[in-house]
Amino acid sequence: LVVLSAVNKHYGDLHVLRDIDLTVHAGEVLVVIGPSGSGKSTLCRTINRLETIDSGSITVDGTPLPEEGKALAALRSEVGMVFQSFNLFAHKTILENVTLGPIKVRGRDKAAARTAGLALLERVGIASQADKLPAQLSGGQQQRVAIARALAMEPKVILFDEPTSALDPEMINEVLDVMTQLAKDGMTMVVVTHEMGFARRAADRVVFMDAGQIVEQATPDEFFAHPSSDRAKDFLSKIL
Ligand code: ATP
Ligand code: MG
Repeated sequence: LVVLSAVNKHYGDLHVLRDIDLTVHAGEVLVVIGPSGSGKSTLCRTINRLETIDSGSITVDGTPLPEEGKALAALRSEVGMVFQSFNLFAHKTILENVTLGPIKVRGRDKAAARTAGLALLERVGIASQADKLPAQLSGGQQQRVAIARALAMEPKVILFDEPTSALDPEMINEVLDVMTQLAKDGMTMVVVTHEMGFARRAADRVVFMDAGQIVEQATPDEFFAHPSSDRAKDFLSKIL
């Protein structure tokens, strides 16, 4: 579904992505882990072209990422993204946050978008909050709205960049539970996270990055039991 091939990116002198080859298959849950600064966020951001790349190629469903214009807007609706910082529209209600994209970008009729939006809010467990503003919700609830908003565009894949890192501990599980359910429902997901329990439970494949490289990829069982590189062993010894 998503294929990265020999992708390189620099920020000035910093070689932030080094010869990245990565395929995300339809229905797969890929968990990306690695130390701070290893390039995980940059990797996610290149996939929906929030960042450009210097060389190599990225395709979604066989089509190279578009440069600009309508094709780029279409790509962004196919490749959803959920950030650490929720990024909801502060002055729109919860339901409007979820329906705005389908109405503006997908040209959905308002009533249909509303019905679909309410169903999505139901799915993430916050339908009762539909008419509130984001600031009236807890962080865990806001992040579930962000997930519903991404789902509303009917994306082919959703990228999650540390979706629970900004949350209080008691709210982490309510977000991870929604993500685990999405994974079970067959959504294609790329998840950057430090939540190793989620990685073990939900990942089809774990990708370990360090210094801009993919150092290893394996099933979670293999990876956590027998990391093959010293860098992965060292990383796991610090966080587990
Ligand atoms: P973390 O776990 O802390 O989120 P990360 O693995 O997501 O880290 P990135 O955010 O992808 O890492 O950053 C990789 C490297 O690129 C870091 O050294 C970072 O300082 C640098 N970097 C990221 N964004 C920019 C930018 N816009 N301009 C210059 N350097 C950047
Ligand atoms: Mg990051």
